[in-house]
Amino acid sequence: MKNILIIHTGGTISMLENKETGEVNSTGTHPLTALSDQLKSFAKINEQIMFDLPSPQITPNHMLELSKEIKKVIADYDGIIVTHGTDTLEETAYFLDLVLGTDKPVILTGAMRSSNEIGSDALYNLISSLRVAIEDKSKNKGVLVVMNDEIHTAENVTKTSTSNVATFQSPQFGPLGLITKDSVIFHRTTLFRHVQTIDKISKNVFLLKAYAGMDEQILNSLSAARPDGLVIEGLGQGNLPKNTLEPIRKLIKENIPVILVSRCYQGVVQPTYSYDGGGKQLKEMGVIFARGISGPKARIRLLIALEITQNMNLLRDTFEKFDG
Ligand code: ASP
Repeated sequence: MKNILIIHTGGTISMLENKETGEVNSTGTHPLTALSDQLKSFAKINEQIMFDLPSPQITPNHMLELSKEIKKVIADYDGIIVTHGTDTLEETAYFLDLVLGTDKPVILTGAMRSSNEIGSDALYNLISSLRVAIEDKSKNKGVLVVMNDEIHTAENVTKTSTSNVATFQSPQFGPLGLITKDSVIFHRTTLFRHVQTIDKISKNVFLLKAYAGMDEQILNSLSAARPDGLVIEGLGQGNLPKNTLEPIRKLIKENIPVILVSRCYQGVVQPTYSYDGGGKQLKEMGVIFARGISGPKARIRLLIALEITQNMNLLRDTFEKFDG
């Protein structure tokens, strides 16, 4: 039998519904630990409660702590499952994907409905994750997210609905695989892994979303806060309103990297347009294009990359040569 460690970090999967008020919150004991007998037929299980946090309270430092714990114990296990709140699950999954060099399955899962709610997906998603974790074919695919009978890559997956159990989707490429009643089916694989080793998270990176009529005001106030980096979810293929150009130029001159992704959830940014604020101009100014990842994930990547270098050209290589 395989040996699997389940690390709990909090979120709805760790919470219960108060039947009188309808509120969902932690109760001090982990609801799934009481059900661990149901897991024993799949693998030898150890459980660890690392945090008991709703995921809006998870920070990159919690992610780093989690990654250190996984690195410390992974040699003793065939796979690791992390249970996590769904709100920031994709950021933790991507963080782990970028810093863990292991070939063993590391799987994140959560729930949209707590364990005692009608139609709860908590135990179901945990068992699905376990079924994926014990499969040899789950090795060497990077950190995976298992929810609602689907297997997603940490890089592509995103929460798309506030409450639907089918919330986790990979808009660009679709899921990596499916879980049926009797099998785990992968229908594609991950081609690129980009692991960076870091020991701390010490930088401050902001994330902005572009909008029609965006001007210099928000960028000027942000620049006064002296960030170490900025990610902007730009428009379309990677364009910005023209009044943002001056403050962005200033930030880059001050050696503050500005990373551009698109606020579209499919496609990649590319320097196509040469009008004022168009991607071509932004690129010539030194804006770094991050292809095919969301704003929150580009922010995680920049936080990690800045621990390794603050050299603008090396940072550019990290992002722009990312997928081969
Ligand atoms: N707000 C919750 C959290 O992220 C949502 C969930 O876990 O599904 O902790």
